[in-house]
Amino acid sequence: MLPLNAIIVRINEESPSIRTFFFDLQFETMKPGEFVMVWVRGVDEVPMGLSSKNSITVQKVGEATSKLFELKEGDSFGLRGPFGRGFSLPSKEEKILVIAGGVGAAPLAPYAEAAHTAGSEVHTVLGARSAGDLIFEERFAEAGNVYISTDDGSKGKKGFVTDVLSDLNLSVYDKIAVCGPEIMMASVFRLLEDKKVLEKSEFSLHRYFKCGIGVCGACCIDKAGLRVCKDGPVFSGVQLLDSELGKYMRDASGRRVKI
Ligand SMILES: Cc1cc2nc3c(=O)[nH]c(=O)nc-3n(C[C@H](O)[C@H](O)[C@H](O)COP(=O)(O)OP(=O)(O)OC[C@H]3O[C@@H](n4cnc5c(N)ncnc54)[C@H](O)[C@@H]3O)c2cc1C
Repeated sequence: MLPLNAIIVRINEESPSIRTFFFDLQFETMKPGEFVMVWVRGVDEVPMGLSSKNSITVQKVGEATSKLFELKEGDSFGLRGPFGRGFSLPSKEEKILVIAGGVGAAPLAPYAEAAHTAGSEVHTVLGARSAGDLIFEERFAEAGNVYISTDDGSKGKKGFVTDVLSDLNLSVYDKIAVCGPEIMMASVFRLLEDKKVLEKSEFSLHRYFKCGIGVCGACCIDKAGLRVCKDGPVFSGVQLLDSELGKYMRDASGRRVKI
């Protein structure tokens, strides 16, 4: 599949290190949690979740994302996709808990919106390092209740999303959707396991992708050998029992890197 050419029509600065790039293509049938392979010409092709049917929301962490941050309106990048398995869409009258950390809010904002539109009751726990790093608070607030945590206490509860979760009755939710830094997701995973609600949960994983379509095996996770790009990136909590989550991931050469 050749990449489509996506022209940037608007750029929103969400935080000092996170920007949303709106483009001139519309992925009308995309499911929240699905991703696109973004071809940053001359640099690399990297996976990004869709933050809406016509946007990606990018955190500047390295070479490709720094190059994306140099692009202006009217510039373009290549896009393949959408690919992968997204979050299970809720039905009417379900109670949904969304747990988002940092740029992990990107695929979860359209999920919260889709759940709200479907008639579900949506509660979001939104965490970040500090108030200025919180993204999409308004989008989550339009979909339902929002509980905030910041590491430094500059907004909401001081601490981590797990500190907010400890105060909630998790048994009332029908579905729990999680995306954020792996350390955060591993802590949430343990907490959901302790509270015996893991079977209601889904986690969106980040791994190093090459092909993005399930052929090369670069993103396989231990022990089951699931391909994050094709079998995921969204997995049920039960699928991740006894997996490498929170322990290690593999780099471009396949070597294990401790988390
Ligand atoms: C399915 C999927 C969906 C994704 N969705 C998004 C998204 O919506 N928005 C987004 O910003 N990113 C997302 N990512 C992560 C994104 O693909 C990487 O951040 C990107 O590939 C980094 O490329 P780079 O060349 O800029 O950094 P590299 O040069 O490859 O890495 C530079 C340094 O940053 C570290 N690094 C790499 N990725 C991350 C990370 N995610 N967080 C912190 N440190 C990191 C590396 O270990 C390395 O030390 C997603 C990943 C997957 C697999």
